[in-house]
Amino acid sequence: MEKVGVIGAGQMGSGIAHVAALAGLGVTMLDVKQDALEKALAGIAKNMDRQVRKGGVAAEARDAALARIATATDYAAFKDSDIVIEAATEREEIKRRIFEALCPVLKPDAIVASNTSSIPITRLAAATDRPQRFIGMHFFNPVPLMKLVEIIRGLATDDATFEAVCGLAERMGKQTANAQDYPGFIVNRVLMPMINEAVVALQEGVGDIVSIDTGMKLGCNHPMGPFELADFIGLDTCLEIMRVLHNGLGDSKYRPAPLLAKYVEAGWLGRKTGKGFYDYGATPPKPTR
Ligand code: NAD
Repeated sequence: MEKVGVIGAGQMGSGIAHVAALAGLGVTMLDVKQDALEKALAGIAKNMDRQVRKGGVAAEARDAALARIATATDYAAFKDSDIVIEAATEREEIKRRIFEALCPVLKPDAIVASNTSSIPITRLAAATDRPQRFIGMHFFNPVPLMKLVEIIRGLATDDATFEAVCGLAERMGKQTANAQDYPGFIVNRVLMPMINEAVVALQEGVGDIVSIDTGMKLGCNHPMGPFELADFIGLDTCLEIMRVLHNGLGDSKYRPAPLLAKYVEAGWLGRKTGKGFYDYGATPPKPTR
């Protein structure tokens, strides 16, 4: 594989383009918004500069990587791509429309991957002309720092596609974990019920925010407590993933905590809105309960 396409130049797409370019791959990044592409390029340059300052990347490697990233708003740019990784907004109809526009321009053997966090890979694959060459590549945020890529095979994904994307992830400096195509895959299936249970414990008054976070940090050696982590991820995202688990698996143990829904209704979504389980207007952040 030499040429990688990336669709969606947001947080995740720009991170994927960053690691692919540093790995020596030619990258074409597409977005519906020209300003998203410009912002992504500026963000990638800034993040690579930081890596150069910290000594992780040589200045020449940064310059060469930046020169390997092209941007586009027209799908024809993907005609030579060996793989296209879709990382656009998490809405199924958006992704379906993207695959409709993408597949006709691709080489017959090109692979299509999706970075979706919650939409079944098998269902997305069925919206393409190549379910056997379709696969989930679930990166973690921030992509340049997080080591993991979950690889999710759809029902029809063939072995060659699976092996090719595992090789690609390794070339990007990542380690893979192989998940079957069930809601939440592996990491969110285990992580989100833990965060949700922390909210249930808070709601029941088992402990306050600081006690529960301290308990999990010092008692389980987690680098962040569940509320700190939930604020970092975004409480709307946490709630949405709990709903996907609840609807997809049908077990009441995945019922979203009513207090989590209340925080989202209040618009207290975590760090991105300045307030979630902690208020980031204060230093250090002050617990909201
Ligand atoms: P984001 O909002 O930062 O970026 C999405 C980008 O997609 C935007 O730039 C938007 O303009 C673009 N877009 C929308 N419609 C498009 C279209 N039709 N064609 C091309 N581009 C289009 O979102 P994000 O956080 O980068 O998430 C992207 C994907 O990655 C989602 O599927 C999400 O579930 C998944 N994901 C997110 C995280 C995370 O922590 N943020 C982690 C893993 C996976």
